[in-house]
Amino acid sequence: MLKLMVDFLAEEPELCGKLDSCTTPHYALAQTYSTNFGIEEADAWKVFEEIERKIKEAEYIHIEAPRPIRKWFLLTPEEISMLRVITDYFAPQPRMAPASGFVGNRLESAIETYKWVFGSPRGNGEAARENFHNLVEKTQNAISFRCDTLEPLMTTPNPYKAVLDLLQIAGEKLKLDPGIHEMLKRPMRTIILNIPVPMDDGNLRVFTGYRVQYNDALGPTKGGIRYHPELTMDEVTALSAWMTWKTAVAGLPLGGGKGGIRCNPKDMSQGELERLTRGYTRALARYIGPYSDIPAPDVYTDSQTMAWIMDEYSQIVGCNTFGVVTGKPVCLGGSLGRNEATSRGLMYTVIEAANYKGIDMKNATVAIQGYGNVGYYAARLLNELGCRIIAISDSKGGIYNEEGLDPNEAMKHKIKTGSVAGFKNYKPTTNGHLLELDCDILVPAALENQVTPSNAAKIKAKIIAEGANGPITPEADEILHQKGIFLIPDILANSGGVIVSYFEQVQNQMNYYWSEDEVRNKLQNTIVTAFREVLAIAEEHKVNMRVAAYMKALKRVSDAMLVRTSKAFLPVTINAR
Ligand code: NAD
Repeated sequence: MLKLMVDFLAEEPELCGKLDSCTTPHYALAQTYSTNFGIEEADAWKVFEEIERKIKEAEYIHIEAPRPIRKWFLLTPEEISMLRVITDYFAPQPRMAPASGFVGNRLESAIETYKWVFGSPRGNGEAARENFHNLVEKTQNAISFRCDTLEPLMTTPNPYKAVLDLLQIAGEKLKLDPGIHEMLKRPMRTIILNIPVPMDDGNLRVFTGYRVQYNDALGPTKGGIRYHPELTMDEVTALSAWMTWKTAVAGLPLGGGKGGIRCNPKDMSQGELERLTRGYTRALARYIGPYSDIPAPDVYTDSQTMAWIMDEYSQIVGCNTFGVVTGKPVCLGGSLGRNEATSRGLMYTVIEAANYKGIDMKNATVAIQGYGNVGYYAARLLNELGCRIIAISDSKGGIYNEEGLDPNEAMKHKIKTGSVAGFKNYKPTTNGHLLELDCDILVPAALENQVTPSNAAKIKAKIIAEGANGPITPEADEILHQKGIFLIPDILANSGGVIVSYFEQVQNQMNYYWSEDEVRNKLQNTIVTAFREVLAIAEEHKVNMRVAAYMKALKRVSDAMLVRTSKAFLPVTINAR
């Protein structure tokens, strides 16, 4: 549609005829778009509204040039203003166009409008005209466009709201001190950073990053760093609260934090990512450290990202500080056993749950949604125990075989073809269907919000272990609980990752490293103890396992806060205890 707009302005003859025969440019555009692309006119109006909004909110716009160049070019702020003039010309009620009157042809009119509204660069009207013509040509030839915005995006459902809802439920059961409850509704510290990065094309781009340190009552805050184009502060805040409960439920001497940068790593070179990561580290250096806040990898960040952070931070403080981040390569202080730690921890909790429910792990049937790090290792480890993996899936589809699948062969197929779908002659299955299979153990290990009130009643598994963060909505929890399904909540089931991250940091601080067996034994002790404590709370208070896990976590955090908080600050509640 954007190309059609510039074609109109460039006075393509048959389009001009359209403009002349229609009452407004907006109507002419919608009608032509609808005819050319065979879609309803009402939908064409919606497409226009979406483009107008994106261009209005855009901080950066990239245009992909055609072959043989096939490169992304960043538009200048002047060109972005010009695009705003163009979209305004086609708006139902243009606000800028009347500024110029309709001088000469339409393109001249738009150029005059631009000069009126935005002024011409260095007072030079000719330069503006030339730039405008260039932009029209670039837009006509472009293969694709990309708009990046800094407007906050609200994800649905808002993850922070889910955190607050659970805090409320568990807080009431615990009779949490009202002052502490108030404090726990908000993060302790939120840092917003703007990081200038020289890009490969010679432009300077400023990225916005966050670090939220939610609570450090139990120890230094700990949590991953996520690179994502739609990252929001609500999301980072919710994840930092999640980390606070996760470290607390596992009994670790750590608080919770999370960070991230709004960027699209898939479109960035290694050099750009390194400069971005080092810039983020410099901006954050005074707030992180082995005794204050310890980042780790998360979505679209990895051991290389952590190595850059560790190196940059070490240069700033003047000595090797391996313990400032975890998830590093093993040759730079990473821990043995970290890759499979989340799934190994999950396996230990599943063994406990199966004992409790009287399910024999040998021959127990397992369905796993998501076949990445967590899903694959979970399949492998559970299979080694004798479980039958009857279904697995990834974003492209799934496979099903009642007799069981070979997890390693399935992974080889995924590496070769990009998906587990189509492996051998197994029956295909969908992600939705996989969740509803008749099985003993279900492991959602892909995305959030997979089990909701709309499909919870159809789940037939006896045990669900949440490998992913937030795959089951709190509303669906109660339905599963009523059905007698035993849920191992994310903050417990997938805490193996953060437990071994903690071990990594302990080894860094000692500068003495453990064998893989030692790591596994310590992980098993830690997570099994946490599981048993949560189960005891669930039984004592007759609540589901998720509420029980939050109660355990909240109690640890609030006890630490109460003894640490100044008596002058909370005199009544502290004395009452
Ligand atoms: P990953 O990127 O390695 O794998 C994700 C998998 O999910 C991929 O196989 C992908 O194809 C699949 N997937 C994506 N969209 C899907 C869809 N719509 N339906 C089905 N499958 C889909 O990620 P990971 O490290 O395995 O993490 C998975 C989940 O576990 C995330 O929620 C993550 O936050 C959580 N988690 C991971 C760790 C860890 O140590 N890796 C620790 C705690 C929690």
